[in-house]
Amino acid sequence: MTQRPRLRPFTLGAVRVDDASVFARARDEMLHLARVYPVDRLLAVFRRNAGLDTRGAIPPGNWEDFGHPDERAWSEADYPGREHAPTANLLRGHYAGHFLSMLAMAAAGEDDPALQSKVDELVAGLVEIRDALAATGRYSHYGFLAAYGEWQFSRLEDCAPYGEIWAPYYTCHKLMAGLLDAYELVGNEQALGLANAMGRWVHRRLVRLDPERRQRMWSLYIAGEFGGMNETLARLSAAAEEPRFLETASFFDQESVLEAGASGTDILTDMHANQHLPQLIGYVDEYEQTGEARYLEAAKGIWDQIVPGRMYAHGGTGESELWGPPSTVAGDVGHRNAETCASYNLLKLARKLFAHTLDPTYMDYYERTVLNHVLGSRRAVRSDTSPEVTYMFPVHPGAFREYDNVGTCCGGTGLENHVKYQDTIYFHGQDDLYVNLPIDSELDWEEAGLRVRLRSGYPLGESITLAFEGIATEERTVHLRVPTWAAGDLELRLNGEPTEAKPIPGQYVSLTRTWRSGDELHLTTPARLRAEPAIDDPRQCAIFLGPTLLLARSELTTSLPFPLAGRQEADGGLITDTTATELLADLAQSGVVTLDGIEFEPCWSGQDTKYHMYVRSHDAEIAFGAVESGKPAVAIEILEEPSPSGWYTTAPTIRLHALEADASADTGDRLRLELRISGGDWQPYTAPVLVETEGVQRIEARVTDADGRTGTTGREISVDTTPPRSRATVKELGSSWEITLHATDEVSGVERVQWEGPGTFWGTFQEAFVRAIGPEPQVIEYAATDRAGNEEPRRRLVIPGKDGPR
Ligand SMILES: [Zn+2]
Repeated sequence: MTQRPRLRPFTLGAVRVDDASVFARARDEMLHLARVYPVDRLLAVFRRNAGLDTRGAIPPGNWEDFGHPDERAWSEADYPGREHAPTANLLRGHYAGHFLSMLAMAAAGEDDPALQSKVDELVAGLVEIRDALAATGRYSHYGFLAAYGEWQFSRLEDCAPYGEIWAPYYTCHKLMAGLLDAYELVGNEQALGLANAMGRWVHRRLVRLDPERRQRMWSLYIAGEFGGMNETLARLSAAAEEPRFLETASFFDQESVLEAGASGTDILTDMHANQHLPQLIGYVDEYEQTGEARYLEAAKGIWDQIVPGRMYAHGGTGESELWGPPSTVAGDVGHRNAETCASYNLLKLARKLFAHTLDPTYMDYYERTVLNHVLGSRRAVRSDTSPEVTYMFPVHPGAFREYDNVGTCCGGTGLENHVKYQDTIYFHGQDDLYVNLPIDSELDWEEAGLRVRLRSGYPLGESITLAFEGIATEERTVHLRVPTWAAGDLELRLNGEPTEAKPIPGQYVSLTRTWRSGDELHLTTPARLRAEPAIDDPRQCAIFLGPTLLLARSELTTSLPFPLAGRQEADGGLITDTTATELLADLAQSGVVTLDGIEFEPCWSGQDTKYHMYVRSHDAEIAFGAVESGKPAVAIEILEEPSPSGWYTTAPTIRLHALEADASADTGDRLRLELRISGGDWQPYTAPVLVETEGVQRIEARVTDADGRTGTTGREISVDTTPPRSRATVKELGSSWEITLHATDEVSGVERVQWEGPGTFWGTFQEAFVRAIGPEPQVIEYAATDRAGNEEPRRRLVIPGKDGPR
């Protein structure tokens, strides 16, 4: 029994985001890439694998490359084993799948025949490749399509680890999803045929395995990552009217996740976020196709374990791709937070869960994340070759976004992210309309015979206006989501007149009528500046102006102090001497706002600055209030200057000053000073103290006068005086060496590792590199720098020449 969602999205072509919207910047840059990027480059890895002419095309690069020159398109049975078979780029093909999805979305959204024919060209190329693979007779089924042999799948069935294989079903999913998008969005029938055949091949492979084997496979770190295979197969089952694919989808059910989600048991700690997120989307599809409630319950249950307890201010999740402990945000800030493809999947999940439950909190998440993380993940530049999107969108002090990401997971999802901004603005039910996001846009609500224009100036405006054109033949209800950030007096007016409706932030406000041309619905949404504390540390706050997360521009790698104490209203509003309206005008005009001398930019800017997503509420260094009230006070002075990073890279000295209410009095021996470092015992203070302990230290000072009255103050200092340690590991690959550089720094963390060798410059190390063995020995120098700014002396690695000693 199928369970249709209560709401459905409109087609991509029915909604147009305004060219003046902030979202149009990223959309248009990505559409440019969709138009200029050659299909032959996407197909090159497939053609090489199938023995077809690559037409001189260079693959996209990075993860998406030709692989090792000695790699063969081994079948499921003749792979000689990793000792004898050099391989590389074993995820290749996934990027073409995402690119196909992007092209299909762009073609549907733009109604552009050139994009449509590019979809057709890419699909026709894949058909030719699939046929060439089938003609070899080497693969287990004619539906097999990949840019490598079938052996990765049989090795996964033997539970081969990540490293020997990558994630073969992940790539399979991206291809099948792209094909299904090409069919569903622009009606490419060939794509459905290919997806159908792939589905049959997948079914054949998995139906032979006992269920325990499949569970073991899916629990393998990375190797068993299958993206949203269950989602795509459930969709394919409906598109191809083939019930068997629903069974194939269920082969990917991961029982441990389903059970934990449905029972509300938290199992996410240390799990790979993006390995498991797409399957949750698939569970909602499986629920729709089968009516089995546990699928929906599981997806909702796991969602609740992520949002808000594992969510950073911009909506991202995870550290180094893994989830941390429950209800831990500030406590899980590292250097590699918030993988962008995880947010891509959370958004897909949020809109599906909303369509089934009508719970507006899913749309709160959607709005936060699509504006701040997703739009902010696209650099504000044009490129003919790169998606220019982030992988990690980090949240630590002094972070910066590393854009580009051709051929990575986030590069792939990033292609799609920016050409579908219109997909969640409006949903519709039987005869009603849901306006979910206040993005300037126009909707062709064909069923109702209406066009709806939304004007908001979002995210810099303070009202939403819906203007109707056309004449509805019957009454329709319009539900408008009142943004959670709206503050103060909210009013809904129809054609200038107040209505009975009571808008409540975070809820939908509804109005039913027979809509006609000239009707105008107007909601005031006053913005405010607010500080949102991290769930586990009220002193770490993200600053929002209306919906916009503000990033503090600063090179500091220690936490950035910001005066918050005493400025917060009970509802989280922040008291400033500038109104939110003035701040919004500043942002619109100059792209930045200045608060207490610190420059902030919107998280969605697409800029290259170093930033702080969280600021730290700082204590006053001197308890002035105490002085005024007649109590003694104390000040903490640090004799050295910190390095530009904010860290002390030499041990700092602390001096205390006592201040008495009556400045004329002789304070000499009547005041007693004490010092406490990082929660230790209070120690009498007589002379300046050197702080030699490394790390972030809490310094507290206390003063007591003759009458027993005390004053205290405290501040944090960050000390890292030792450089990081790096080492190189090498792997022999016959005629070359693969070199990987590792670095650790227990105190401030590693900022970067750099290296140079003959013919290279002192560049930042990103991933393992290969040096061919030449006649002469080669010297590779490398060194790491920590976030405090300490750099270790250069280390040397010597690669022997051909005839030299090993
Ligand atoms: Zn990713």
